[in-house]
Amino acid sequence: MNEFLGTDIKFLKGVGEVRAGILNKELALFTFNDLLNYFPFRYVDRSKFYRISEIEQDSSYIQLKGKIRRVEEVGPQRSTRLVAYFSDGEREMELLWFKGVKWIKSQLKVGEEVVIFGKPSFFRGKLTMSHPELDTVANRKNSAPLEAVYHTTEMMKTRRVESKAIRQVMHHLIRHEHFNIPEIFSPEMCQKYKLIPRDKAFRFIHQPPSHKHIEAAQHRFKFEELFFLQLPFINQKVNRKRADKGITFKTQNPLFEDFIKNHLPFSLTGAQERVLREVKTDLCSGDQMNRLLQGDVGSGKTIVAFLCVLMAIDNGYQASLMAPTEILAIQHYIGLKELAEKIGIEIGILTGSSTTKERRMLHEKLQAGTIKLLVGTHALIEDVVQFENLGLTIIDEQHRFGVAQRAKLQAKGQINPHVLVMTATPIPRTLAMSVYGDLDYSVIDEMPAGRRAIKTAHRFGFAREKVWQFMKDEIAKGRQAYVVYPLIEESETLHYKDLNTGYDQLLEFFPRPAYQVEMLHGKMKPSDKEAKMQDFANGKTNILVSTTVIEVGINVPNASIMIIESAEKFGLSQLHQLRGRVGRGAEQSYCILLSSKKLSDNAKTRLQAMVGTTSGFELSEIDMQLRGFGDIAGTRQSGLDQLKLASLSTDAHIAEMAREAIVELLTDDPEYKNHESLKHFMKNKQGYKDWEKIA
Ligand code: ADP
Ligand code: MG
Repeated sequence: MNEFLGTDIKFLKGVGEVRAGILNKELALFTFNDLLNYFPFRYVDRSKFYRISEIEQDSSYIQLKGKIRRVEEVGPQRSTRLVAYFSDGEREMELLWFKGVKWIKSQLKVGEEVVIFGKPSFFRGKLTMSHPELDTVANRKNSAPLEAVYHTTEMMKTRRVESKAIRQVMHHLIRHEHFNIPEIFSPEMCQKYKLIPRDKAFRFIHQPPSHKHIEAAQHRFKFEELFFLQLPFINQKVNRKRADKGITFKTQNPLFEDFIKNHLPFSLTGAQERVLREVKTDLCSGDQMNRLLQGDVGSGKTIVAFLCVLMAIDNGYQASLMAPTEILAIQHYIGLKELAEKIGIEIGILTGSSTTKERRMLHEKLQAGTIKLLVGTHALIEDVVQFENLGLTIIDEQHRFGVAQRAKLQAKGQINPHVLVMTATPIPRTLAMSVYGDLDYSVIDEMPAGRRAIKTAHRFGFAREKVWQFMKDEIAKGRQAYVVYPLIEESETLHYKDLNTGYDQLLEFFPRPAYQVEMLHGKMKPSDKEAKMQDFANGKTNILVSTTVIEVGINVPNASIMIIESAEKFGLSQLHQLRGRVGRGAEQSYCILLSSKKLSDNAKTRLQAMVGTTSGFELSEIDMQLRGFGDIAGTRQSGLDQLKLASLSTDAHIAEMAREAIVELLTDDPEYKNHESLKHFMKNKQGYKDWEKIA
């Protein structure tokens, strides 16, 4: 950092030891650089003066010009408030202060023309403004029309270091005689991506001459944020491509062709075909494939995975498929075995509950190369099993696996096997590109033909019997249903519906032998889980009462009803996943969200969103608005919380630009020979401690 930017804020005019201490402690601002990077969160237009008569019920921050007519202290001694009667010559309103009464009173001069600024409100039918900002008309004459507003803390307010104070300090900083902010991007980049110079951008963001200037400054900083967010991921990808050579598959695939021609139970969607082409190109390229396949629930990722497995087998290699839960691994095993038998391929399964004997058998068969595909849970990584020649690893619902685990699994092959990670976690493309930026990206953005949109409804608990009656009618038509509970057992502290109680009630409403109601949850023995899943898949069970163990991946096309109890307990992505268990066949499917009557605003929004759309991508956008990026599965350590201005949902085009700039930089100038100042900047940037890994 240069000398100017590195200077301690206490040396700045208008700051000093005391204020510096407050800014250090409250906002973690220590240097000029920190201060400059403390951006306003909005701007107010101070060029316009309102009349009192123009004020409406919901007016936001406004500015008025007029005179103080009278000042008065009211209320008991210990909690006096100050009332000033303010008139704009036409009408009058009350200005109120509850804190700092003595000091404010000493500042107010009756009869002097002043400018007040604040948020008006109607209090007991009277128009008032609490704690307005106050200035003399003379003072305001040469101030900027657009004013930056900064966040401050409670403590800062009591110490009277408010937005206005920060604005003043910023003014001194920007007018500093040694003001010096070097450009970090090359002139070519600045021109190509329409980036205004860095020093100007800082000036405009804090003291904008116009809205246009704010936009230009924001564009510049959004670009910067998205540039530094994506750089490490893309860099990693480029490096890996350079270092890890892959297995080159040949283009002829007899098993694959045979299966497509003679055994495929349906025709592939255009999106599935496109993804297969993308994968094939990777496999034949000589580089190791590292591809993320994203597709909403029910879009048909499994068959794509299976066809990729066939390509590996065609080339004389084995493959593995890893699932996040035992139930899902078992289901994949059952389903894939059926497909594999059609073309005489042996597959195996390995989970945490495989016995020693089973493991020994597996091991032998894997080493001999008779098992071509091994399906399993993360036991696939932990276990000592070795393949004869692992050529392809597929990871289903990847957000539950970390990067480290991915690496461990890769290490199972003598050479680097190709890797395909699949996920239904509906994250917008830009986010996927950024967070999984080290992977190539494919998407299945088309549902198989003949699917009908799932009908979703929200009901309160007292309508439960009606809902059950509806379920009865659907079962009479041959359908099956899931009923999901958030808890296994009743809880003293959490007032949610529980599985055990619900199961008993359902048994009463759906008596045996007319109905078959079964229970499934994570604490059961694996063999029991498998049996319950099988019975449901085969249609023996009418209603599967379960916890969220069925959340991900389970595929029983005849199941057309999903009832979620205490739906307010679940997050949007979880609700979407659960709903995705139905709507997988040709029949009309239903999802019914039951909740208690008392709902938080947030819960209401979630349930309404579920009723309003079945698109995972739309839901993820809403989810992001509700929770921010930080909470989205698998994205916590991604650096998204560093974004101050940019938003991946609305600034996708800037993210794209930044990406392009990075690729260009890493391709044309990997040593940063013509980007000295960028290199220098990154060396000093926080969070870029591992500079060596980037350059
Ligand atoms: P997901 O992407 O959620 O993993 P699945 O692979 O489980 O989805 O597929 C959901 C259902 O759709 C399965 O029953 C599968 O057989 C079926 N399916 C997949 N592709 C097609 C297609 N092209 N046409 C018709 N049905 C399909
Ligand atoms: Mg799946």
